[in-house]
Amino acid sequence: MDLETLVAFLVDNAGPWISEQRDRHLETSESLPDTTRAALRGYFEPETLDRARIGSTSVIENPPFYSQFEAAGQAIPLDFSVWAGITFGDVILLSDAGESGAMPHSVVFHEMVHLVQFRILGIDEFARRYVTALAWNRFQYMTIPLETMAFDLQDRFERSDGRPFPAEVEIRRRLDATPPTPAREDRLSTS
Ligand SMILES: [Zn+2]
Repeated sequence: MDLETLVAFLVDNAGPWISEQRDRHLETSESLPDTTRAALRGYFEPETLDRARIGSTSVIENPPFYSQFEAAGQAIPLDFSVWAGITFGDVILLSDAGESGAMPHSVVFHEMVHLVQFRILGIDEFARRYVTALAWNRFQYMTIPLETMAFDLQDRFERSDGRPFPAEVEIRRRLDATPPTPAREDRLSTS
């Protein structure tokens, strides 16, 4: 699969997978626990904390469409089974299998950043930006702008020592400031 075909395949499949996972895990998810709400108050708007749902799983499953990569003898783009958490729209899913070593509430904070990104962009646009950047950056997921924003704000959260900063305002500001994903030709000419 050449890069262009790969990006198109991922864009076509990622959004529907996220929507399907969101609906599936919504049934068994709950509102944020009071202790989590208290820890995240001031970083996120009250309505955002109200809207968030959280659930748990023994392990985050990889998407069914990964079978295409396996059949072709290619590496899968991202192995979700080792992740500590993932967000599908407004549903955060925490894994018993993932080891984060992060401070309490830090993983949920990171996932809340994605929840706000989903809210602003919608599931399909989030998926498009995520997988396009992932493929262009040779599957180094730490370089995906939606992830660098989440890790950067998570780091600030850990250093904020319980003194909130308006993370949600910052996410909106940064997404506004993010230029549209450049055309592939532009990328190739500068790399
Ligand atoms: Zn993330």
